[in-house]
Amino acid sequence: MTEVVRQSGQCLCGAVRFDAVIARTEMGACHCTMCRRWTGGIFLSVECREVVLADSDTLGVYASSEWGERCFCKSCGSSLIWRSKDGAHVAVSVQAFADPGAFPFTTQIFIEEKPASYNFREETQVMTGAEVFAAFAPGGDT
Ligand SMILES: [Zn+2]
Ligand SMILES: [Zn+2]
Repeated sequence: MTEVVRQSGQCLCGAVRFDAVIARTEMGACHCTMCRRWTGGIFLSVECREVVLADSDTLGVYASSEWGERCFCKSCGSSLIWRSKDGAHVAVSVQAFADPGAFPFTTQIFIEEKPASYNFREETQVMTGAEVFAAFAPGGDT
């Protein structure tokens, strides 16, 4: 029997509320330039199988590349979801979840785009952008 892990979440103002089916109970960091500009920080996310929104009209969608789109709250601007257009990958901001601490920190991607001025202390798997594309989206872009 496979245990289905779910957790609810919301944006800063509460206009966007969701219930997510977690694909992997772990947290990854993306250091790419787009995620840093989009979030104003580092995108820390959890891979989800499904995200059910209470009201989909509250969610704005920005197509940031041919491959992916970034979803945010239309009211407060919270950065919430990165997803591939084909639906194969859905990465939800760990900070939107009710219990962000439930997800161990395991992976850092686009490590070559990380500013040199800071580092995470935790031991994680580390991948370059080229390694990410080779593994998940040959020829793609974030
Ligand atoms: Zn909001
Ligand atoms: Zn990124």
